[in-house]
Amino acid sequence: MDILKIDHLSKLYGKGETAVKALDDVSLTIKKGEFVAIIGPSGSGKSTLLHMLGGVDKPTSGKVFVDNTDIYNLNETQLAIFRRRQIGLIYQFYNLIPVLTVEENITLPVLLDEHKVDKKQLGEIVKTLNLQSRLNHLPNQLSGGQQQRVSIGRALISNPALMLADEPTGNLDSENSKEIIDLLKMFNKNYNQTLIIITHDERIALQADRIITIKDGRIAKDEVIRP
Ligand code: ADP
Ligand code: ADP
Repeated sequence: MDILKIDHLSKLYGKGETAVKALDDVSLTIKKGEFVAIIGPSGSGKSTLLHMLGGVDKPTSGKVFVDNTDIYNLNETQLAIFRRRQIGLIYQFYNLIPVLTVEENITLPVLLDEHKVDKKQLGEIVKTLNLQSRLNHLPNQLSGGQQQRVSIGRALISNPALMLADEPTGNLDSENSKEIIDLLKMFNKNYNQTLIIITHDERIALQADRIITIKDGRIAKDEVIRP
């Protein structure tokens, strides 16, 4: 089953002579449970692509279907709800809310949805991420690896179908990087959660099922390495 389908996607930033074509007619399908690495030179359009997939920023033209929903056909409120439930996003610099505790950061998507937090599920996530003793700490009281584990918790709390990560280890040392990648791989394999990671690190890309290379806003190469 395809969890993700993008159809003739283009993205133009700015207007007139200074306009930049960040994505140029990209089409792609990704199967449920696939682990995909996106690689390519700086400025080639990788983050733009991830933002379009994640419902963060509207494409100039083309469509994005997540689990058969045409996400940019939703209104703003519907899209915000869809994102919170179906799409987990992880960034290089964690993007945690500095005034909220670890527990509050992790449960925020559920609270914004006006749902009750499932304490059992929260407990399991916190244990897997080894954050039991940090629940009442603020982000600036944590190491980089711990902060990234909090952002993974926040992305996991809604059991999203899609996990999108933009250079999730770009700011971590090799030990913490391995831990973060191993966690993401574990959720990918054990829960069949589709995982898409942008990375500059060949060792991470080579762990994926499929490597997509972006150049000048287009797909330059698309290789399945683990069918
Ligand atoms: P990558 O993630 O591969 O480094 P990006 O997707 O960030 O590439 O950027 C692709 C192109 O779009 C680059 O030329 C970049 O300068 C441009 N770009 C990205 N974001 C914006 C923006 N918000 N406004 C204008 N240009 C942008
Ligand atoms: P450092 O400069 O911190 O010693 P390395 O040069 O060993 O780091 O590694 C550079 C990057 O490679 C790390 O930041 C990390 O992203 C990645 N990395 C290292 N080892 C692994 C691994 N076993 N699996 C995945 N990524 C790794």
